Amino acid sequence: MTFYVTTPIFYVNAAPHLGHAYTTIAADVMARHMRARGEDVFFLTGTDEHGEPVVQAAEREGLTPRELGDRNAPRFKALLEPLLVSNDFFIRTSDPEHESKVQEILQRVHDNGHVYKGLYEGWYCPRCADFKTESEIGPDNTCPIHHIPLTREHEENWFFALSSFQEPLERLFAERPDFVRPQVRANEAKAFIGQGLRDVSLTRANLKWGVPVPWDADQVFYVWFDALLNYVTALSYARPGEDLTSTFWPASYQLIGKDIIKFHAVYWPALLIAAGYEVPERLFVHGYLLMQGEKMSKSLGNVLDPFQVIEQFSADALRFYCFREVSFGQDGSISPAGFETRYETELANEYGNLASRTLSMIARYRDGVVPDVALDETLGHDFFDLPDRVAELIDGAELTQALDVIWERVRRLNRYVEERAPWQLARDERRAGDLDVTLRSLAEGLRAVTVLLAAYLPATAEKLLAALGERGTGYALARYGARDGGTAVTKVDQLFPKRD
Ligand SMILES: [Zn+2]
Repeated sequence: MTFYVTTPIFYVNAAPHLGHAYTTIAADVMARHMRARGEDVFFLTGTDEHGEPVVQAAEREGLTPRELGDRNAPRFKALLEPLLVSNDFFIRTSDPEHESKVQEILQRVHDNGHVYKGLYEGWYCPRCADFKTESEIGPDNTCPIHHIPLTREHEENWFFALSSFQEPLERLFAERPDFVRPQVRANEAKAFIGQGLRDVSLTRANLKWGVPVPWDADQVFYVWFDALLNYVTALSYARPGEDLTSTFWPASYQLIGKDIIKFHAVYWPALLIAAGYEVPERLFVHGYLLMQGEKMSKSLGNVLDPFQVIEQFSADALRFYCFREVSFGQDGSISPAGFETRYETELANEYGNLASRTLSMIARYRDGVVPDVALDETLGHDFFDLPDRVAELIDGAELTQALDVIWERVRRLNRYVEERAPWQLARDERRAGDLDVTLRSLAEGLRAVTVLLAAYLPATAEKLLAALGERGTGYALARYGARDGGTAVTKVDQLFPKRD
C-alpha cells in the first residue's frame, strides 16, 4: 500500500515560524507512523515562490523575486532537519520541472474546454493573491484577513470555468463525506459551493513573475493554480529518472490550515477533474495555535520560536507539545509557560523517569538483563488493543487522540511501578519471581509505548529503544509481548533534562 501526505507549500516572502512547523510536524508524524506500518510513503513539502506577495516582498528588500526565493527557500528547508522532519522531497515552485509540468497540465485544462478569455473586474488582495467574492470583502473594501485596502482590478484574463463544476463538486461532497475533515470544515466548503460558483481568473496580465501561459505569451498563471499543482508535479520529478505519479496519486492526505479551504476544497478538486486527475482521498484542515500573550516563561520569554525551543529543549519536546496541548483540527491556546509545564510533568517526570527507573532497576536487580519470564497479564489487558487503536486514530488524522491513548499507557506503567513497588520486592528473596515478572512487564510495556511514540518523539525513541535492546522498527513491535525476555539493556541519561 502507498501513503502520500503533503503540507501546503509556504510563501517565501516571510520567515518560517511555529505555524509552518506545526503542519509539517503533523505530516511527519503521519509519514513516520505509516512507514512503521510498512506503507510505501511519500511526504512532500516545499515553498511557493511566485505571485504578487513575493514580488512585493522582494521589492521592499531591493531584490528580484528569484533572489528572494533563493535566499528564503533555504530558511524553510533549514527548519526541517532540526525538527526531525522526514520529507521525501522539497519542491520549489520556481523549479523548471515544476513550471513545465504546470504548463502541460493547464494546457490540457485549456484543451479540454474549461478555459476562456474574459474581462476581470473586481476586488483583489495582493497579500492573499486572491480575487475576493462579494461575501469575502471587509468594510470599506478591505481584506478581512490583512486589513489592507483591496485593489480594483480590471484586466483581460483567461478564466477557468469553475461554475461548470458546481454539480461535480456537490456530488463529490455528497458521495464522500470524509473528503474534507473535520466536518465543520467540510460544511464551510459546502456553504461556499452552495452560494453558487463563479468562474475565476486563471491568469494575470500585469505580472511577470509566474509560470508563462503557453498559449498566450503576455500572461502568467495566477499563482494559486501554479501552487496547487505542486502536489502533482512534484511526483513527476522528485526521484530522478522516475515518474511517481501513478504510484502515489491521488494523495492520501493533504494537510492544510483553515485559511486556505476555498483553494483546496473547491478550486483544487475542480482543477483536477478538469485536467483528468483523481481528487485527493482526504483533506485535513487543522486549526491555529494561538499564543497567549501574558504567560511568560523564564527560559523562552513570551514567544514559542521553533528554532529557540529546539535549541534550548529539543525537537521532540516541541513535536510533543504541539499535539498534546491543542487537539489537532481545532484552534487552541499555547504558551511558553504551558510548554514548560508539559515538558516537566509529562516528558521529564512521567516518561523520562519511567524509562530511567525501569532501566536502572533492571541494571541493579538483574545485572542489566530483562528476566526471561512470562508477562504480567493484568498489565497486558491494558495494552492488547493499543497498536490497532493508535493506527485507527492516525488513519483519521486524530493525532492528539492517538497521543492521548499512548500517554494513558505511559501513566498506567507509572501506576504499575507504584503498585508493585519493585524496590520492596527486591528486599525479599522469596519474592524474586514477582520481581522478575514486574521488571519484565515494565520493560515490555515501555518498549511497546516507545515504538508507538517514535512517530512523535523520533530522537527519544531511537535512543530509548537502543537502550532497551530493540533494533527493529516495524509496527508489529508495538504489541505488548512482541519481544521475549532475556534481552540485555543499558541505562540511559535523562531523556528530558531539567532546564532553568
Ligand atoms: Zn488579504
